[in-house]
This record gives sequence, structure tokens and C-alpha cells, in this order.
Amino acid sequence: MAFESLSDKLQGVFKKLKGKGVLTEADINEAMREVKLALLEADVNFKVVKDFVSAVKEKSLGSDVLESLTPGQQVIKIVNDELVGLMGGANSKLTYSPRGFTILLMVGLQGTGKTTTCGKLANYLKKNGKKPMLCACDIYRPAAIDQLEVVGKTVDVPVFTMRDCKEPEVIAETAVKEAELKGFDVLIVDTAGRLQIDEALMEELVRVKKAIKPHEILLVVDAMTGQDAVNAAAGFDDKLGIDGVIMTKLDGDARGGAALSVKQVTGKPIKFIGVGEKFDALEPFHPERMASRILG
Ligand code: GDP
Repeated sequence: MAFESLSDKLQGVFKKLKGKGVLTEADINEAMREVKLALLEADVNFKVVKDFVSAVKEKSLGSDVLESLTPGQQVIKIVNDELVGLMGGANSKLTYSPRGFTILLMVGLQGTGKTTTCGKLANYLKKNGKKPMLCACDIYRPAAIDQLEVVGKTVDVPVFTMRDCKEPEVIAETAVKEAELKGFDVLIVDTAGRLQIDEALMEELVRVKKAIKPHEILLVVDAMTGQDAVNAAAGFDDKLGIDGVIMTKLDGDARGGAALSVKQVTGKPIKFIGVGEKFDALEPFHPERMASRILG
């Protein structure tokens, strides 16, 4: 699981703090130096680390902490609260259309797990009483359409395709009409990925966005790619505007820094995390739970 090394290191720092009955300013400075190193090693964005450590330090050096009976515990609580805040505070839920028909536009670079995540999301929605339909909008790789069809079969959710159409915005628009007509209440639109953010990809996505006015644009990023995932989020948000991030592969040995940086760097929350290859390996992202997992 991600965060193992960060978690070990932070727990080491806290063990030392808890062991002391009285904390001096020097103790806190030393602990914060170690926290800073641990976060940097976990590949958390440099500026995020700097702000985080200075916020924790400022709060920890208050007399109410230093003169309390359990100063170590207080510092740990401050770190916990700051960590929760860093990841967005409360759980960020999906926004459903008040009209009853919700359109989700899924975007992301190739290989991040976008198509798999479309299937996971469809599965999740179905389990939560929704009636989703999938739509394949990759006009470059027929194999991507095949893949989404296999995914749809596996999770038992219909997939809308228009194999001969080369305009993704037309495909998406037609899918919206079809889904509404057939009584589905969520349409998940899978789009083409690229190896990197380029003008053509963004222009295409902007066209699809204009055509179907999605209620949510969700960017899929791969936790294993660390700060590249954060940069991708910033790039997509800048050019297209995103509502949230789904971070995949947090079951792997990703250092976790991306998960701790995305909200702070882009202002957009992580809404779900992918924790495996199976279609039930998708969880709503809860900053509090993640913080307690990291802090042990
Ligand atoms: P796409 O190119 O973005 O559509 O990526 P795919 O959906 O084809 O996924 C690429 C690979 O990542 C596949 O082998 C998936 O099984 C794998 N994958 C996707 N999400 C996760 C995840 O949360 N954890 C793990 N371990 N693998 C994942």
C-alpha cells in the first residue's frame, strides 16, 4: 500500500515526541525537520511541504501546547488536523444533477487507469442505486472501445458506441440523448487519452465539454507517477477545468506524495481512489481516514 515509508517515518518521529514529558522549542524544531524530510521523501510537492511544516510549527509552539500535560499528543493532533486539511478536509462527494440525469466526463492521460476507472465508477453507482450507462469516445484506438465494452460486460452496464463516427462531441451528445430516452440516470463518458497533455487533446475535450455540459469532469491520475500526476491535474484544470480527481493505484508502492499535493496545488479535491485492478477496488476518498492511516 502507498504511504508505507512515510507512515513508518512519521510514526518514528511521534514516538520520540510522545516519550518526552516536556517539549522544548528545540524538540519541536527537530521533529519538524524530520517531518519535512519524510514528506519530501514521499514526493510531496516542495511548497506544500514548506507551508505544511510552518503551519504545524506555528501551532505547536503556542504555550497551550508546550505547557500542556501531553505536549507530544497535542503536536500529533496538530499534524493530523493539518494533514486532513491538506487533503481537502471533508469528503468530496460527486455532484448529481438536480434534474435527475447526471453526466460525468472522464479525462486523463493514457495508462492512468481511466477506462478501468469508468467501469469501477459504473459498478459503484450501480451498487448505490443508480442506473448508469457508459459511452466510448476514443476515436483513435478501436481497441479502447473494445476494452470499454469488455468492462461494461463485466460490471453489467451497457456501453454506447458509434464506431464510424470521428467526432467525439457528436458521439457524446448522441449518447446523452440515448441514455435519457432509455431511462438511465448517469452517463459516464470515457474519452481518449494521450501520452502527454497536448493542444489537440485539450481542444477535443473542450468540444465534448461544450456539447454535453457535464455535471462533473473527473480527471484520472496515477499515484505511481508522483508529481507528474499533480502536474497533469494542474494542466487539465488550467485548460479544461476539472471538478475533481480520481487517483488510481494507491494499492501499489506509490510514495503517496501526489495524494497529499493535488488539492493544495490545484484547489481540486480527490473524490475517489483506486486501490486495485478489480472493479470493486474504488473507494470514496476520505481525508480523515487517509490521515489516520498515514499516522497509524
Ligand atoms: P487507460 O489507458 O487510462 O484507460 O488505462 P487502463 O484502464 O487500461 O488501465 C491501465 C492499467 O492500470 C490496467 O492494467 C489496470 O488494471 C491498471 N489499474 C487501473 N487502476 C488501478 C488501481 O487502482 N490499482 C492497480 N493496481 N492497477 C490499476
